[in-house]
Amino acid sequence: MTKRDYYEVLGVTKSAEADEIKKAYRKLALKYHPDRNKGDKGAEEKFKEAAEAYEVLSDAEKRKIYDRFGHAGLQQQGFTGFRNFDDIFSSFGDIFEEFFGFGGGQSRANRVRRGADLRLELMIDFLDAAFGKETEIEMSKHESCDSCHGLGTRGGSPPSVCSTCGGRGQVTRSQGFFSISTTCPICQGSGTVVTDPCDKCRGIGRVLISKKLSLKIPPGVESGSRLRLNGEGESGDVGAHPGDLYVYINVKPHETFKRDGDNVIVLTPISYPLATLGGQVDVPTLEGAEKIDIPKGTQAGQEFKILGKGIPHLRGRGRGDLIAMVYIKTPKELDQEEEDLLRRLAEIEGSQVTAKKRGFFSRKK
Ligand SMILES: [Zn+2]
Ligand SMILES: [Zn+2]
Repeated sequence: MTKRDYYEVLGVTKSAEADEIKKAYRKLALKYHPDRNKGDKGAEEKFKEAAEAYEVLSDAEKRKIYDRFGHAGLQQQGFTGFRNFDDIFSSFGDIFEEFFGFGGGQSRANRVRRGADLRLELMIDFLDAAFGKETEIEMSKHESCDSCHGLGTRGGSPPSVCSTCGGRGQVTRSQGFFSISTTCPICQGSGTVVTDPCDKCRGIGRVLISKKLSLKIPPGVESGSRLRLNGEGESGDVGAHPGDLYVYINVKPHETFKRDGDNVIVLTPISYPLATLGGQVDVPTLEGAEKIDIPKGTQAGQEFKILGKGIPHLRGRGRGDLIAMVYIKTPKELDQEEEDLLRRLAEIEGSQVTAKKRGFFSRKK
């Protein structure tokens, strides 16, 4: 991708003074701010582009390099621009405070606060955890008021500087020899007051909304897995990054399948004749039944693996295995023929035992 010229991005001439560059950037930052352009990829790119242009042109050293050698010159110096919003906000936090009418260099007391993270518990089915799913979640959260762009003022005009503390957010009282600074009781330390509040949010700047989000659950999640939705937490102060939403997964137990890491264990009943003589049995898998061979003389508790039929690995390719653990199912009801046969079998086994015993005793005699 070819990068646009930084002067062109900010819409200023090559001879623009620092003041003019800042003003131009302010305009773009306000226009494309993520709080005002939720989910708009185009605006996001513009916001990042403007931040990068400003980062370079507001720095005399970087600007000199750029003027002489262009983008390539900066790259050689290791300049990479910004990776994400967090990067931008942590570099320009002060600038944003200034842009949005807070402080203006008078107050360092109130930093812009990032929005709170939110936590949501989500119960999903065993098979959805195994193979992933796209689902919709609904949640309520505080979001920046769109009528006033979070400023709390009618029409979104900048709030006025608090006259009690002069915008410092603190008031100083003299008491004898001491002077004590406390948080300004009028503006609660923000340094600004809203004299003409926004109707929609009553001056708070945030409104409680209910929001639907589509959520992509990746294959292989398990109970306790945490999915992070960037920027879907609560709105922060104006100019700050919103919090994130963390979705905690709970997986409902399945009546047939048990999970052991990425392996799936399934208890498989086999009959006494099958265990003894060998043969085949149907084993339920996550994707329908599959036949496995039961060798002669199989014992209860023996395990048979079906490779690659377990849970997909959450990180990386491939899947775990399906483990069929067999147990001998004892019939509770028998028809006459079965009963006769079993009695006959018992007799044979019994007579063998007796015969052996007899042999033992006879030898002793
Ligand atoms: Zn005040
Ligand atoms: Zn409002």
